[in-house]
Amino acid sequence: MDILGPLQRSYNMSCIRSKATQPELSVRHWLWNHDYRYRLNVKSVPGKPDIVLRKYRTAIFVNGCFWHGHEGCSKYVVPKSNTEFWISKIERNRERDQKEYKALKEAGWQVIVIWECQLKKNLIEETMLDVEHLLNKNLLEMYK
Ligand SMILES: [Zn+2]
Repeated sequence: MDILGPLQRSYNMSCIRSKATQPELSVRHWLWNHDYRYRLNVKSVPGKPDIVLRKYRTAIFVNGCFWHGHEGCSKYVVPKSNTEFWISKIERNRERDQKEYKALKEAGWQVIVIWECQLKKNLIEETMLDVEHLLNKNLLEMYK
């Protein structure tokens, strides 16, 4: 179902990087409540990740399934009108994402990508426990 017109979509798109989305806020609340301290939009880190946990040398991206093209996800449905336009747009987003992840990894950062669909009420706890596991694993690696 495509209920947003192109104008509204470009408006939403322009907000994506500058304003925290609800899924991102859910992740931040979980981290905060579990005593993980993070920073937002750290400029010294490549790719401007959504959430940076310096102590764990980890960058977290919270990706919307549509805009970032979550392969095989029910939320990633290419609109039936202007299909070519959306496919190339989302493909560009994906390429940019991959570049950012690569730059971070090369700079020694762990990259964790959390998809919006993994943050549904019945999934968020499981998802965040996985994230917690990755954080602590990386911390151990750093002090080996
Ligand atoms: Zn998804």
